[in-house]
Amino acid sequence: MQEKAQTLPNPRDDGEVVVVGASAAGLYAAAKLAQSGRRVRVLDAKPEFDPAPRSLIVTHHFRNQMNGEAATSIRNEIRRFELFTDGRSAEIALQQPDLIIERARLIPALARASQQAGAKFSMDTRFLGMGPNASGVRLEVERSGVREELHSKHVIGADGATSRVARAAGWPRVETVPLVQALVGLPKDCRQDTTRVWFVPEDTPYFYWLIPESEDRGALGIIGEGSGQETKRRIERFLERKGMEPLEWQGARIPVYRKWVPVRRPLGNGSVFLVGDAAAQVKVSTVGGIVTGFRGAQGGNLTRTG
Ligand SMILES: Cc1cc2nc3c(=O)[nH]c(=O)nc-3n(C[C@H](O)[C@H](O)[C@H](O)COP(=O)(O)OP(=O)(O)OC[C@H]3O[C@@H](n4cnc5c(N)ncnc54)[C@H](O)[C@@H]3O)c2cc1C
Repeated sequence: MQEKAQTLPNPRDDGEVVVVGASAAGLYAAAKLAQSGRRVRVLDAKPEFDPAPRSLIVTHHFRNQMNGEAATSIRNEIRRFELFTDGRSAEIALQQPDLIIERARLIPALARASQQAGAKFSMDTRFLGMGPNASGVRLEVERSGVREELHSKHVIGADGATSRVARAAGWPRVETVPLVQALVGLPKDCRQDTTRVWFVPEDTPYFYWLIPESEDRGALGIIGEGSGQETKRRIERFLERKGMEPLEWQGARIPVYRKWVPVRRPLGNGSVFLVGDAAAQVKVSTVGGIVTGFRGAQGGNLTRTG
């Protein structure tokens, strides 16, 4: 174990940017930085890339952001929305199709892109805390159960809604809400290219959605306000009313957008940046964080850090 820990290269390399979090926003930032010529190391507490499956809907901007890498994660295209409320309904055609993507394919595609650009990875490496040092930032990490120090000038916190990097650098907590999705068989009258949205204000200030991921399966979801358990009970009752059976569950707490979170803080002679859910970079209307997290990671400050 000790031997493994000693293999971390460049532990005092000021030129290396350390990214904490190897998920959507962190990997995207790592790829962009490595492509712009920076040396990048990505840490993640998970032992390996094995993202839980999650069906996500994103706008067409995703294709431009991902270039050719997008193709592997796209499962379906959405061309219209059907909206339901209070016995009334409306249909809206999209000018550009939304995309249904699979997160379990997106994350490995992003990891490949950042590795090809030269980024290095330290998996099973948990960020514990950090402070200033002479050259920039001193990070405390635990790698395979062994505590170590890393030194870097710039650190990017891409460690999600409960970001420990943000806490360590003094950012306030972001407010989160539970998001619960059930994979369901697609009802016979539901078209593969159409997302359904139900507004049920007594259940949620947001909405229920049903996004088809193929001709026979879709993800029905809700954003709640209180606990995850209560949110799950609501969606279970909704599924029952609609005569649908949950095949699989997906869920986590996600940030809500309240106001712009400044993304850079100085620490000693270095800087700390936040991207993705760590900085609540989510859509105001739907709290989706993929395209907005990528935009955050593209922020000029990150790729131009000196
Ligand atoms: C069920 C569900 C459905 C969703 N649907 C959509 C959708 O349709 N469209 C959309 O745009 N968005 C959707 N979202 C939101 C979207 O998934 C998130 O916005 C996005 O995954 C955030 O990515 P991220 O990289 O910022 O953070 P995360 O994906 O949370 O990744 C954080 C990473 O940091 C690592 N980490 C955490 N703490 C540490 C530590 N101390 N040390 C080292 N590593 C650490 C974690 O292991 C993880 O890999 C959905 C979310 C859920 C839960």
